Amino acid sequence: MPPINLYSDTQTRPTDGMRAAIASAVVGDEQRGLDPTTRRLEERVAELLGFETAVLLPSGTMCNEIAMRLHARPGGDEVILDRTAHPVNSEAGGPAVVSGLMVRVLDGDRGVFTGADLEAAVRPTGNRYTPRSRLVCVEQTSNLGGGRVWPASVVHDVLDVAARFGLRTHLDGARLMNAVVATGMPASSFASGFDTAWIDFTKGLGAPVGAVLAGSRELIDEAWRWKQMLGGAFRQSGMVAAGCLYALDHHVSRLAEDHLHARVLAEGLAALPGVRLDVSTVETNIVIFSVDDAPGLVARLADRVELQAFDAHRVRAVTHLDVSRADVERAVAAIADELG
Ligand SMILES: *Cc1c(COP(=O)(O)O)cnc(C)c1O
Repeated sequence: MPPINLYSDTQTRPTDGMRAAIASAVVGDEQRGLDPTTRRLEERVAELLGFETAVLLPSGTMCNEIAMRLHARPGGDEVILDRTAHPVNSEAGGPAVVSGLMVRVLDGDRGVFTGADLEAAVRPTGNRYTPRSRLVCVEQTSNLGGGRVWPASVVHDVLDVAARFGLRTHLDGARLMNAVVATGMPASSFASGFDTAWIDFTKGLGAPVGAVLAGSRELIDEAWRWKQMLGGAFRQSGMVAAGCLYALDHHVSRLAEDHLHARVLAEGLAALPGVRLDVSTVETNIVIFSVDDAPGLVARLADRVELQAFDAHRVRAVTHLDVSRADVERAVAAIADELG
C-alpha cells in the first residue's frame, strides 16, 4: 500500500472528472486574450473575490511576487507581513530581488497579527532615516500558523489601519476557500477590501496548475506587463483554466470534509502520549503538532505516512481530497505504533 500522503494539500492528483474537463477544454491564444476558457475563469474569480478583473498566472508564488512589484516603489519601500508568511520563507528571497523591498516581519499569533500590531509597526512619515512602509500582506488561511483563519473583523481592522496610513494591501489567498468553507462567509467578504488578492488552485482545490490574481483593471493591466516579462504568459491555457473551473464547481464545498478529517486526525493525535497538540487550534485542513524528535518520527514513518517536519519538534499534516476518513484513522494508528 502506498503511504498516506499528509505531506501537503499540493499532493492531490486531478480526478477523472477534472481530467475530462481539461481534455475537452475550448482553447485559443491566451497572450492575445483569445483563450475563452481562461477568460471565463478570470471573470469568475474576479467576481468571486469582488474585484474588477483578474489574471491567470502559473503559480501562487508568481501572484505574490507580481503583486508586491505592483505595490512597491523602487527606493526603500517596506512590506509588512507576519513572520510565518510565504514570501518571507518560501519565495527564494523574491521580495528583495523582484521588488527591491525591505521585509518587516510581525510576531502574530499563529500567523495572525492585529490592526494594533500593524499600527505599531508603521514607520513615521517624513523621516528620512527609516524605510517607507508601503504595503501590508495578509495570508488567509495562515499556512505555518496551522491553517488558522484570520477572522473577518481582524482583516477589517488591518485594512482600516492600512487605509489610515496610506498603505497598499495584498491578500495571499492560497487557502482562502478553506476560510470560506470553515466560516460560511463569502470569499468577497475576506478579499474585496484589498488592493490585490489571489486564490490558488493547486492546494485543496485539487487542480494541477494555476492561480488567479485579482485587482482593479489598472493594476491587472500592469500585472500583465510583469507576467509577460517573467515568462508567465501562456498560449492554450484553457487546458489549465478548465481544471480550475472544474475545481470551483466541484471541489469547494467538499473542503468541509478535509476540515473534518483534520479534526479527526487532531483528536486522534492529541490522545497519544508524546504528542503535544491543542485540538482547538485546528480550524481548517492543517494540523501542526509537536513531538520530541520530529525529523526522526517523520523519517521512521515515511513508508506508511508522509508528513513534514518543520523543525526539531514540529510536524505538519495536511488533509486533502486524496485522503479519506479511513486513511486518517490508519495514519493515527501508524503514528501511535511508532510513538508507542
Ligand atoms: C503554496 C502557497 C503559496 C505559493 O503557491 P504556489 O502555487 O505553490 O506557488 C503562497 N502562499 C501560501 C500561503 C501557500 O501556502
